[in-house]
Amino acid sequence: MKPLFDPSLYEFDKPQPSYWEATAGKHHLPDAPLEGTQSCDVAIIGGGYSGLSAALHLARDFSVDVCLLEAGHVGWGASGRNGGFCTMGSTKVSLKSQLARFGVEQTRYFYQCQAEAVELVRSLGTDENIDYLPQGDCEYIVADSDAHFTELKKAAEIESRLLGLDISIHSQDEFREIGYDSPHQHGAIAHRPSFALHPLRYVQGLAAAAHRRGARIHPRSEVLRWHKQADGSHLLETAQGSLRAQQVILTGNGFMPEHLHRGVQGRPLPIQSAIVVTRPMTDDELQQKGWHTENPVINSKHMFFYYRLLSDKRFMLGGRANHVGDPAGAEQTFAELKQSIARMWPQFSDLEFTHQWRGLVCFALNLRPSIGRMPEDKSVYFAYGYHGNGVNSATWSGRELAKWLAGKNSGDSLLPQHLPAILRGRPPKFPLSSLRRQYLRAGMAVYRLRDYFDI
Ligand SMILES: Cc1cc2nc3c(=O)[nH]c(=O)nc-3n(C[C@H](O)[C@H](O)[C@H](O)COP(=O)(O)OP(=O)(O)OC[C@H]3O[C@@H](n4cnc5c(N)ncnc54)[C@H](O)[C@@H]3O)c2cc1C
Repeated sequence: MKPLFDPSLYEFDKPQPSYWEATAGKHHLPDAPLEGTQSCDVAIIGGGYSGLSAALHLARDFSVDVCLLEAGHVGWGASGRNGGFCTMGSTKVSLKSQLARFGVEQTRYFYQCQAEAVELVRSLGTDENIDYLPQGDCEYIVADSDAHFTELKKAAEIESRLLGLDISIHSQDEFREIGYDSPHQHGAIAHRPSFALHPLRYVQGLAAAAHRRGARIHPRSEVLRWHKQADGSHLLETAQGSLRAQQVILTGNGFMPEHLHRGVQGRPLPIQSAIVVTRPMTDDELQQKGWHTENPVINSKHMFFYYRLLSDKRFMLGGRANHVGDPAGAEQTFAELKQSIARMWPQFSDLEFTHQWRGLVCFALNLRPSIGRMPEDKSVYFAYGYHGNGVNSATWSGRELAKWLAGKNSGDSLLPQHLPAILRGRPPKFPLSSLRRQYLRAGMAVYRLRDYFDI
């Protein structure tokens, strides 16, 4: 079974030429691939936030014998190359549909967990001494038009009244003072808790902490084959070794190795996201250009951009890339992102760019993240589908998987009944799942049209 996108997106031995790779900290990370025949109680596939948070919590809080296999280096996947927004919102189900489907209590519970997830990242930074360069204290959503601002204010009122979310509203003039000015700035709302961080330092810090707490971490150990043994155990084979485990946690999100288990095949919808970064600016330059915030920002379009000032005062902007994943298409996306900066912030049009890279996020047919156990085999747990919002959600999901798996109450249930209803269970399989990229192409075309006609 071939991966969905262009092979250039799955070169596990190559780090992305990202700003994060260029400025990663100096963590003492486990470096040895899996070798020989080993065993453990719980094996984890994937060394991003989901897998490493599960490993850390299993080893630290439950003394579980856990071993994690990562195909690339630690944080090779989206966890080491994202925008570093530690913010809420890991579903594309509209608030109206969430309320209709799950009710007010469950919807409120979901958002409480999302806020808790942001705080979990903050506390892991402190408790595990992770130097992830935090910035800001909220996330701004900036209205692209007056009509969008009216919509944002209406939604904010419902979210704070019904769900108890901490939201503040800033008019265009106010936001010019605390945020920035732009022909595309028509006011903003701020969500708390949220902040920004260095994503690669964070994932490396998680790995170092998990290792320190007793988890075995093996980078450069792509799982190539997965056998279920007659005695109920699992055998995971890599190029240089094999790992026997009683239970497996399967992570992977946009890079999900679907060929390994039929329970995941045809269910994730990977989507490309790409980022460009400028040279650093001086304080005077920033002042002249009227940029006043370190908070992470998104705009209100369907095909939205996410952007922030980095700790050394570079400007970073990210957005969606094409449905193919080829290098030529990526170059075109990078050029479009740069043009968008010049269009949205003419004052930035003289800045040179120093870094550009891309990766895969993960959507699902039911537009929500999923935590559960495989109906085909209850000894396999999974968490994926964070809809572009995994810094907090994947960290939290990893911890919740650890608690569920190690807790005495996991019993026979396939679903984590104690978690918000919106997160429970496996996403449906896409019909004719080999056409997922074509569905994506059609979906993006619709979003672009809706943005064009502002509907
Ligand atoms: C460009 C970009 C920008 C983003 N911006 C943000 C943001 O600002 N804020 C936010 O919250 N989220 C953001 N995201 C999403 C976020 O990064 C992800 O949701 C999150 O990192 C998912 O974590 P994960 O551990 O589940 O998956 P990943 O971090 O993708 O890790 C999966 C790992 O599985 C490994 N793997 C795959 N196959 C195998 C195998 N056979 N054997 C062993 N290992 C394997 C891969 O090598 C990979 O390292 C962004 C993503 C991208 C790509």
